[in-house]
Amino acid sequence: MEWLCIDFLNSDWRDWRGSGRRENRLEKAEWLDSFLQHWDLQAPLPAGSKTCAELLALRESMRRMTESVVRREALLSDDLAALNQALALAPSHPQLLEDAKGGYRLEERCPVGGWELVMARIARSFADLLVYEEVSRLKICDNPDCQWVYFDESRNRARRWCDDKMCGNLMKVRRFRERQKEKESRKSGK
Ligand SMILES: [Zn+2]
Repeated sequence: MEWLCIDFLNSDWRDWRGSGRRENRLEKAEWLDSFLQHWDLQAPLPAGSKTCAELLALRESMRRMTESVVRREALLSDDLAALNQALALAPSHPQLLEDAKGGYRLEERCPVGGWELVMARIARSFADLLVYEEVSRLKICDNPDCQWVYFDESRNRARRWCDDKMCGNLMKVRRFRERQKEKESRKSGK
């Protein structure tokens, strides 16, 4: 299952191979453009500097919240307040409409659009995940160089890496080398 909030969180990209390279993809118009398209959202690009700062602040709050959830700790009240503020950006109300078959239906309407609506949707996606899913499935990759956020859909919830073939293999190789080194140093110590 794909999550809007997780895609957004991962705009804070780190090189999983350990080069130390890190990219704030919120600053990249190309990334933002494909992010909006993928989630069928509309907002003006390039985003203004005020919007960029607000997006970054929301992401930082959500990142700290994710770390708290992963560590099974209580959320910081400031972060919770920031998320609730983002949720309040897009108040919606029902509207009665007639349909073609002579019946009636209700549709949720939101008077705001653009980046405000995008931020509210991101916050809503995160809130939905925490409320309606098992929070133990929200994880951060165990590779300290990567720290990619993901939703663990495995049956036993035992996934430790964002990707077994990439971070999983890399960490196994690292552990193997560390053990070899330990063995060698023990040998030479004798
Ligand atoms: Zn990873």
